[in-house]
Amino acid sequence: MLAELSHHLTAQQAPLKAALAELVRIPSVCDEGAGGFPFGPAVDQALRQALQIAGDLGFRTHYGDGGYYGYAEIGAGEELVGILGHLDVVPAGKLEDWDHGPFEPVERDGMLYGRGAQDDKGPMLAALFAVKALMDAGVSFGKRVRFIFGTDEETLWRCINRYREREELPGMGFSPDARFPVTYAEKGLLQLHLTGPNASGLRLAGGSAFNAVPDTMRYDGEGQDALAGKLDELGFAYTCTADAVEVHGKAAHAMVPEEGVNAIARLCIALDAVGVQSNAVRFVAQEIGEDPNATRVFGACADEPSGKLKFNVGMIDLGEAEQLSIDCRIPVTVAKNEVEAKLSAAATRHGLAYREFDWLAPLYLPLDHFIVETLMRVYRQVSGDTVSQPDSSGGATYARAMPNCVAFGAILPDEMLTEHQPNERAMLANLYKAMEIYAHAICGLAAQA
Ligand SMILES: [Zn+2]
Repeated sequence: MLAELSHHLTAQQAPLKAALAELVRIPSVCDEGAGGFPFGPAVDQALRQALQIAGDLGFRTHYGDGGYYGYAEIGAGEELVGILGHLDVVPAGKLEDWDHGPFEPVERDGMLYGRGAQDDKGPMLAALFAVKALMDAGVSFGKRVRFIFGTDEETLWRCINRYREREELPGMGFSPDARFPVTYAEKGLLQLHLTGPNASGLRLAGGSAFNAVPDTMRYDGEGQDALAGKLDELGFAYTCTADAVEVHGKAAHAMVPEEGVNAIARLCIALDAVGVQSNAVRFVAQEIGEDPNATRVFGACADEPSGKLKFNVGMIDLGEAEQLSIDCRIPVTVAKNEVEAKLSAAATRHGLAYREFDWLAPLYLPLDHFIVETLMRVYRQVSGDTVSQPDSSGGATYARAMPNCVAFGAILPDEMLTEHQPNERAMLANLYKAMEIYAHAICGLAAQA
């Protein structure tokens, strides 16, 4: 039966590509509440389209809770294997940075271009069409296999949280929303505010997101000459415009803040050094500085599976009140309340209060866990790559929202990561290889013995 599989997989390549182009065409960026849909009409359209594709392949489909999520199921039996991904995409960014329209899928040099091709429409469809190939090869499923389509992954995970409240949880599964082979550890993700009254009267605002290292900060207050002199002394890059000093940093994702230069931190260090009296500025300058691990606050906080704690001051807003917006990635074996206690204590020393904004609990399965072992074995056999090892990540996938779940593909080691960037694209040959890997993986997890 499985000898026939490769020809059924080949037969699914063209339908997979066509379905991906259809889905990429839908600009499913979160537009909260628009048109009466939880995340806007385009996200809803992408959800309905994915369910339609699955229905046409022979899945039983369910449109969940007014469009918060949907799922497509096949097979029979008590046990449920979950495959979790998402249909929402991040915004296109600057259109002039794209060679083609971000939502006008184009095939060129073996790549399919368009927002969502890698994250996460391509990977989800690769797994979906893998099941179709298994069905055509006559595989019967001793467990149910359920594709869970989230619609709010790039923002606040309200979709998957609704799903968890209302629906059956799979006993095991994977999320095709990362790299191959297997991501078995994802750090705890804490986003928080430190707030307090603004006693200094200093006005300052900058940064655009919790999870991005800010690459520039503008200061248009008093004492610009002294500030410029201090920046020179510190060796921090800046430029002076007619009415402001602009401190230059380097953007990076908050999971790897050490790859960036935090412009908020640099401005705060310089402002503190010239004697500006602001609680938030002093906190950043004296407790954090340019240390991406915030060692002064947390000590050497790290573990073997997932590495060091990462800390990013993503936004600062000094208006009527003072507010810092911070992204903190916590090693998988470190308790959240330990981190909160240390951070609260440091904040209190500077007259600031800790307030949680969002929390995603970590993912950690031991390397000898059966799901890690099964998926690694399949990956090695099908891809021929015996070098790549299970990995840990500072990023977050739905895998952490379900028990016995890991992130598994679909980006192969030889493919450039273009998700969230202009000219996002999926290498079609790799997508077909991923479909093959998924077919064997799902067969291994759910086929009748
Ligand atoms: Zn994703």
